[in-house]
Amino acid sequence: MVFLEEAHGQTRNLSQNETQEEATKKEGKGKEKVAKAQGTGGGKMREDCIFCRIIEHKAPAKFIFEDEDCVAFWDIHPIAPVHCLVVPRKHIESLADADLSDKAVLGALMLGIRRVAMELQLVDKGFRTIINTGRLAGQSVFHLHCHVISGKRFSWP
Ligand code: 5GP
Ligand code: ZN
Repeated sequence: MVFLEEAHGQTRNLSQNETQEEATKKEGKGKEKVAKAQGTGGGKMREDCIFCRIIEHKAPAKFIFEDEDCVAFWDIHPIAPVHCLVVPRKHIESLADADLSDKAVLGALMLGIRRVAMELQLVDKGFRTIINTGRLAGQSVFHLHCHVISGKRFSWP
């Protein structure tokens, strides 16, 4: 028999007699392996970083999805009807701190943005993606992330 459990908006199959705790442990190990193989892991979790804490479920957030490379959750102070953040699991302080070894992380971030757009059905509405880099540009959390905003008409520039 197989049970379906919902965790942070994601469903996964639990085999018989497997507790959620055991499943979560296994899943975590699996994620580490995949991330290592793809070069999207690495980068130590930082206790002083709010996004690392959210990724590790040590701080609360309303998740849209979590995969082996990225997580996406709703911004706590939305500036648009839809405002979420896509965050790579790897702690990179900003886009300026990424290097060639982060190619896969950056690719995964782009695909994470696409996944949010698909899951929230933003394609027809249009959506804007923003990466603030550095304090002067408005970056306030120093763990690379991309804002995805939608649900209204945006002016430019
Ligand atoms: P930045 O200013 O660095 O480009 O974006 C950081 C974003 O993270 C801001 O929009 C801010 O509202 C959001 N943020 C900061 N702390 C938290 C938090 O603890 N939870 C969530 N969900 N969002 C946060
Ligand atoms: Zn971090």
